[in-house]
Formats: sequence, structure tokens, C-alpha cells
Amino acid sequence: MLKLCLNRIASSSKYDSIQPRLCQCATGHPGRHDEFPFLRDLFKTNPSVANKIRRDSVMTTGAAWKSADAGPNRILRWVMLLSDSQLLKFGINMQQLKPQVIAKLRDKASTYDDCMGVARKLTWLTYQMDNAPNISPETKAYLESFGMQFSTSQTTKCLVCRDRLSFESFSRAQRGKAEIETGHSNPRLHNSDNVGFIHRECNIAQGAKTLDEFYGWIKTILKRVETDV
Ligand SMILES: [Zn+2]
Ligand SMILES: [Zn+2]
Repeated sequence: MLKLCLNRIASSSKYDSIQPRLCQCATGHPGRHDEFPFLRDLFKTNPSVANKIRRDSVMTTGAAWKSADAGPNRILRWVMLLSDSQLLKFGINMQQLKPQVIAKLRDKASTYDDCMGVARKLTWLTYQMDNAPNISPETKAYLESFGMQFSTSQTTKCLVCRDRLSFESFSRAQRGKAEIETGHSNPRLHNSDNVGFIHRECNIAQGAKTLDEFYGWIKTILKRVETDV
């Protein structure tokens, strides 16, 4: 594994005291410190995809709206590791939220390191989609140093339905929503082993179930449908 610079990156976020943002470049690197050096190329060619990877890696997805009882709609995942009383100091009153909102936010908590691992994994998966842009030798070497191998016979598939994913699906929007989303084999674990891309429809179908639970559920439905004639 690559030895990282981990220099603190200046930020104006009020959450910096919880977890500073750290440079993820190789130690002794030239140029400026950068938290997402592996996304540099994508930020140039496909900024919306790069932004999505960065956002989905580090932010929770809460309610689509922001209101007192819906809670914060997007918040850094490691902030959700704090206790209720610590969160109150940051102006987040968990006790006034509905139990299902609290559960949803807490399920999405994750450490900073896991979030960085997720960002690398999603970048690697993106470059292996059908019709993906070519990866630069620098980005390839960076991801390979984390054990992510590239092979021409490998294609990124939907985590749920296992159909091949095309890079173009990122921009092919349905009713304002992208066709592919970030998903998890177990929706309550946000780490590189557990994360992948999922069709929007597959994500909705999976809901809060783990993949094992989801497939078991589908099997019982199909069995019932087959015998109920
Ligand atoms: Zn650095
Ligand atoms: Zn799918």
C-alpha cells in the first residue's frame, strides 16, 4: 500500500475539529496537497461524475428536503459517529428527529478512512465501466498500489442485478435522477468491501435489505408466484 502524505488540508468546515481532511497523495509528492488525487482526471473530463464519487463517499444521503424533523439532508459521514450530546454542540439535535430518521443517519456513519477507501473503490469501478474514459498511468498506478487490479476482461456490474454498467448511465437521467447510484451489499456498512454502483431501479428494489436478504425475498416471491396458479 502506498505511503500517504496525510498533510492536513486547510478547510473552513466547522467539523474540522472532529476530523481534519488529509492529503491522500504519495508521501513527498510534488505540487499542492490533494484529498482526491485519484479523481483529478475525472474532475477535468467528467466533473459531475467526480463530484458524485466525492459526495457519495463522504456525505450521508438524508431526506431530500431540509427541515427540523427530517434532519440534515447531507452531512459528513464521520460526524454521525459522534454522540447525541457532541452533535448538539454542532447545532444538530438528534432528539428532535423521528426514530427512523435517526436510524437512517446513524446507519450511514463511517470513519474517514473508510470513506477514503470507498472513494478509491468507486473511482476504480467507474474506470472499468463500458465506455469509460481512459485512465491515466498516474491514476492507474495510484489505485493499483491499493491492490485494485485492472484487466480488460473485467467490467463493472450492478451490485444487485449483475448487469454490466455503462459510464454513460451517469448522465442518462430519468426524472432528474441519474440512472446509476452508489449502493451497498449491506446498506448499514459504508466501506470499500461493501460498496458499488447500482441501477436506480435496483437500489429502490433492494431498499434497506442486505443483498442476501433481498435475493431470499425475491426467491420466495417467485416460488409463490409459480405455485399460485
Ligand atoms: Zn500532500
Ligand atoms: Zn441493476
